[in-house]
Amino acid sequence: MKIYEKSRVKLADAKQVLAGGVASTLRGSMKPTPLYVESASGVIVKDVDGNEYIDYQLAYGPLILGHAHTGFNAKVSEAMAKGITYGLQHDGEIELARRLTEVLPCADKVVLSGSGTEAVMLALRLSRAYTGKSKVVRFHGHYHGWSDSIFTSFPSPDMMQKATSAAANSVPPGTKGQSELSLQDVILLPWNDPEQLESTLREHAGSIAAVITEPVMCNSGCILPEPGYLEKMRELTRELNIVLIFDEVITGFRLSPGGAHGRFGMTPDLVTVGKALGGGIAVSAVGGRKEIFELIDSEQVSHLGTLNGNGVATSAALAVLELLTQNDAAVYGTMEGHAVQLASGIRSLFGKHGMRGVVNQIGPVFHMMFIDEDVVTHFDTFQKRNAARYAKFAELMLEEGVLVRPNGLWYLSTVHEAGHIESTLAAIDRVFARLTEG
Ligand code: PLP
Repeated sequence: MKIYEKSRVKLADAKQVLAGGVASTLRGSMKPTPLYVESASGVIVKDVDGNEYIDYQLAYGPLILGHAHTGFNAKVSEAMAKGITYGLQHDGEIELARRLTEVLPCADKVVLSGSGTEAVMLALRLSRAYTGKSKVVRFHGHYHGWSDSIFTSFPSPDMMQKATSAAANSVPPGTKGQSELSLQDVILLPWNDPEQLESTLREHAGSIAAVITEPVMCNSGCILPEPGYLEKMRELTRELNIVLIFDEVITGFRLSPGGAHGRFGMTPDLVTVGKALGGGIAVSAVGGRKEIFELIDSEQVSHLGTLNGNGVATSAALAVLELLTQNDAAVYGTMEGHAVQLASGIRSLFGKHGMRGVVNQIGPVFHMMFIDEDVVTHFDTFQKRNAARYAKFAELMLEEGVLVRPNGLWYLSTVHEAGHIESTLAAIDRVFARLTEG
């Protein structure tokens, strides 16, 4: 039995002064208790009680190079020694912007920002300014950050039944305190449903500024777009003067150097990236068509942020891009190979233990769920998973020294090795045995 006593004491202490006890609401859900970290290196996290874990949570995605990567840290430290941020211009901004336009196929130009949430806010603002329209179509099960303008809770199955093209008023707010007015501009649709998309876009074309989508539904089941679905979305949005935004905050630099749109050979009008881009340092970007960015060039659209483009952020992003792309076929091949090995190993273990489950994997990311279905291709099916059983699984995996998110999403990094995968599969085997026993 692992002891988490010091983490528990620290959480109680934190709650005296830090609202919620954790710095981001989601982190509070970890069982048996949110962990406090002593240090982390490579793929290993050590908590304050002295427990060690192989990390597949990777700080919710940014740590594509693992923890405390020496080459990355050296570049960032070098930049810090020259001053962290100036509120003035410097070469790092130009270098990073140029590099991003090289790796992201859809980006003629970019804008630098601080988080995925901010990047999405800007992409929506640009879309409204560019089209002169106000509504935004988004999809069930996707997540685009926590700003009032786009944050919704995941709808209940009943609510989804009622979702129609005119469902703008039934968009469930993501939190108490959110402005209801901002959600009046949001139309919430089921994803991977080309007919409903087409009828909604045609019916409301005169008022829809943007369609925003995760190109792979990583936030809910790592569900792939059905063949032709994103292409249909591209065709319709182009025809109807609607800006197509791919939110690649998870898939960016992860599914390929050019993200999902690079991998799928698609060209959205705008792309938002963050997470992996900074390797753990706060930085995000919006990339896309130069006609849209002319609105910023001409100062019709404002984009602000005290720390935008700071030297630490730009050096971090440049280091990540260099380390990922200097031998990209090998780097991406290895990460994906490990993900495939884990995903297929888990599927075999489901069989061995007589359990029903699905693993949806693409590149170095996958979603594992306990569910009585053979495939999960839509959000309403995903909602049938046994989330409580998975949360128990995640808790038991901690006991085995493996850190996974309680919601089922796993990330691989460039520093996971074959040995980690093998010991993780052995741990899953033992945990499945415990789950089926009791
Ligand atoms: N978009 C997507 C697809 C995300 O998954 C997230 C975060 O998980 C965001 C936007 C928001 O990014 P951030 O947490 O950096 O604000």
